[in-house]
Amino acid sequence: MSKLVIVGTVAFDAIETPFGKTDKILGGAATYIGLSASQFSPDASIISIVGGDFPQKHLDLLSNKNIDISGIQIVKEGKTFFWSGRYHNDMNSRDTLATELNTLADFNPVVPKNYKNAEIVMLGNLHPIVQSNVLDQMETKPKLVVLDTMNFWMDTALNDLHNIIKRVDVISINDEEARQLTEEYSLAVAARKIQAMGPKYVVIKKGEHGALLFHNENVFYAPALPLEEVFDPTGAGDTFAGGFVGYLAKTGDFSFENMKNAVIYGSTLASFCVEKFGTERMENLSSNEVHKRLLKFKQLTQFEIELT
Ligand code: AMP
Repeated sequence: MSKLVIVGTVAFDAIETPFGKTDKILGGAATYIGLSASQFSPDASIISIVGGDFPQKHLDLLSNKNIDISGIQIVKEGKTFFWSGRYHNDMNSRDTLATELNTLADFNPVVPKNYKNAEIVMLGNLHPIVQSNVLDQMETKPKLVVLDTMNFWMDTALNDLHNIIKRVDVISINDEEARQLTEEYSLAVAARKIQAMGPKYVVIKKGEHGALLFHNENVFYAPALPLEEVFDPTGAGDTFAGGFVGYLAKTGDFSFENMKNAVIYGSTLASFCVEKFGTERMENLSSNEVHKRLLKFKQLTQFEIELT
């Protein structure tokens, strides 16, 4: 089992979808990544920051999943990062209504001593300088560094983003972000251009249309499970990333072949995340449920064809 460091937001989210609306609920990239990765019981630590307004029960939820939370700083007099978004009827596109950095504005991440030799570092969606800062603190070079980011950082910190992209092995972004980053419409061309920026592996998430994994000339495609009800897509991308790194942490095999399985696990876990608002579905997800859905995935994609 490889040690896993996760850095990202631990947050309050307020979400509006065509099905309803929530007030401030638990959210954040690192929260979703951690909950998803916990399916593989990795030796994982979350590095983040929250304010004094953050309920202890949310921290307990993460520790009860055996995630080390000693790297989550609590600023008593500060407020927790807040994000609010509204989904369109297609549930694939959304508008960000508010991004309040609060304590995140002055976040100086500290990697706990016993995680400075972690084999895997998952750089969740955050300011690219903070992501770089975490990598700088590692005492041994991680075997695998995975980066997730979003258009917000492309708009506000593009140079810093390019600097961190150079240093990672895998990048996980969605289709629109890949297009924005490369100014290319074709995802195949975009993936090639991103590989030239540094990451040897490029994962492009396409929401309800699944995910693509690129490495050199190889491409792997995993569909998303056709779900009857998508309630709230928030955190699906992070849940995907959590499943991806969680599986790699468990297996310790970072080959392209094994990454295909990691993509399947990521897609499977993301398919649960969207079934309820916020983190609700991920909080009590059983390994049996995951197993059953993996079988469905297999049925969805397997076929026998005679090639003459
Ligand atoms: P996703 O739906 O996978 O893109 O992730 C949604 C999560 O990302 C929410 O729980 C938010 O709290 C968090 N988030 C939104 N905007 C940002 C941002 N600019 N930086 C870091 N995290 C963010």
